[in-house]
Amino acid sequence: MVVRALRKTVVVIGSGAAGMFCADGLAARGDIDVVLLEAGDDPGTPPPDWLRRDLATPAEVDWGLVDAGTGRPLLRGRVTGGCTSTNSAAALRGQPWCFDDWGVDGWRWDDVAVAFRALESDAQYGDRPEHGASGPIPITRLSFGPVDTAFAAWATAEGHAWVDDQNAPAVLGVGHWPTNTVDGAVRYGVHEALLPRLRPHLRAGTTAERLLFDGTRCVGVETGAGAIAADHVVLCAGAVGTPALLLRSGVGPAADLAAAGVPLVHDAPEVGANLQDHPWTVLQVRATDPAAPARRPVNGVLLRYEILAEDRVEVHLYPHQARPYLPDADPADVFLGLGLMRAISRGSVRLAPDGSTEVRLNHLGDPQDVLAFDLLLDDARTALDALGDVLTEPDGAWWRRPDATDLLPEHLESYGHLVGTCRMGTDPGAVVGPALTVTGVTGLSVADASIMPASPRANTMLASMMIGLRGAALVMDNLPE
Ligand SMILES: Cc1cc2nc3c(=O)[nH]c(=O)nc-3n(C[C@H](O)[C@H](O)[C@H](O)COP(=O)(O)OP(=O)(O)OC[C@H]3O[C@@H](n4cnc5c(N)ncnc54)[C@H](O)[C@@H]3O)c2cc1C
Repeated sequence: MVVRALRKTVVVIGSGAAGMFCADGLAARGDIDVVLLEAGDDPGTPPPDWLRRDLATPAEVDWGLVDAGTGRPLLRGRVTGGCTSTNSAAALRGQPWCFDDWGVDGWRWDDVAVAFRALESDAQYGDRPEHGASGPIPITRLSFGPVDTAFAAWATAEGHAWVDDQNAPAVLGVGHWPTNTVDGAVRYGVHEALLPRLRPHLRAGTTAERLLFDGTRCVGVETGAGAIAADHVVLCAGAVGTPALLLRSGVGPAADLAAAGVPLVHDAPEVGANLQDHPWTVLQVRATDPAAPARRPVNGVLLRYEILAEDRVEVHLYPHQARPYLPDADPADVFLGLGLMRAISRGSVRLAPDGSTEVRLNHLGDPQDVLAFDLLLDDARTALDALGDVLTEPDGAWWRRPDATDLLPEHLESYGHLVGTCRMGTDPGAVVGPALTVTGVTGLSVADASIMPASPRANTMLASMMIGLRGAALVMDNLPE
């Protein structure tokens, strides 16, 4: 008698930073039928130039969201690779205490560090124990241009430490941005690294409309192209897409679902709550040497430091050329970027009564964030004072006005680091537990940026990849016999 193992079908929704790693881990097992759904298109291999080099996101690969609180655009990649195909290729790790503070066993720094090592090939430090040399994502540091060099000299003169490796655990100071780039500055994310071997599983241009439930058991996905039955579904649609899909499918706050006329599957008040981002702004200045910014357009120098000791409120300050983000800018235009990397304000992703998804970032909603950003603005002005030979400021710059603090909210934007809307935890309110299964239902997991209880004090791509990579193993452990 021949005994055959019954193959399971796992549908992974979203091919971004986390989804691609999750699908890759599942597919590598060989005995699971993996279906990778992606709402956006697949631009192919080799990727077109716009995907590899441009930093001004083309509208056709963006979800076209707006922050309901401010009306400002909120970029989210809608393409294979998700936001890793449209982002700035800054590949920075969070601090060990960011993960320890999650307070979830199995997700402390010592648990997750192995995944950060496994996903990378670090060109400069791959031979060090804290790094990896054989993962799919190439990490490298780019040379400095003249503006970077002047900025680094200012920062060290101010007393900030020089840091060789910004991705070593527990470092603060000034040094090279780690980047996921090849050939001098060409972005290399999961589209390039993983999709070539995942294409047989990919259904691009296919939006998951809602999850299908039999009682509280998830049994598949409704798409614009029909229903797909599944033994298990993994949501990797990102910090907006994942809660939006849960809400449309009846898993969320009962009152909101009732108001929108969505039948309730499970009352989960925290789905869509706890939205976090890093508030960010740029001060547009100009290089005195018009050729200088082009000699290291972006991803040159980064200063990261703690601006408030309590709560380790970390910030970013860094100059780069404006043009890659603002194609009409003068080549000499420079952005001084300011990012608040430990924000405690919380926003939300909600289902509006008309069934649409409403995102509110609520930047600077907490007085501590206002204080921290104001101090950061002060430091940025100090840097510009000192760098007067290198960078000139426009007349009447808003950041020099006496009411600059009051003007801050209208100049803030998203750093793109949305997380937290399906919070992981062990308490009854948590949307997913440490094994990433959704509380209150079966057959359903979440493995993307939305599970982070709190944002790491860093750009969020590497942490999202780490979650996808670990998520694959956790999903396999939870498949029904
Ligand atoms: C403009 C911008 C710049 C950024 N710069 C950086 C940076 O330089 N460094 C860094 O570390 N981080 C950066 N980030 C953040 C980083 O890219 C994200 O944190 C990370 O990609 C999140 O991974 P994810 O897998 O959770 O979601 P995503 O990468 O967003 O992937 C989600 C995927 O799901 C798909 N999807 C959503 N809904 C559905 C649906 N219903 N059906 C099918 N598919 C769906 C989306 O199209 C998308 O492909 C940036 C983000 C943005 C927007």
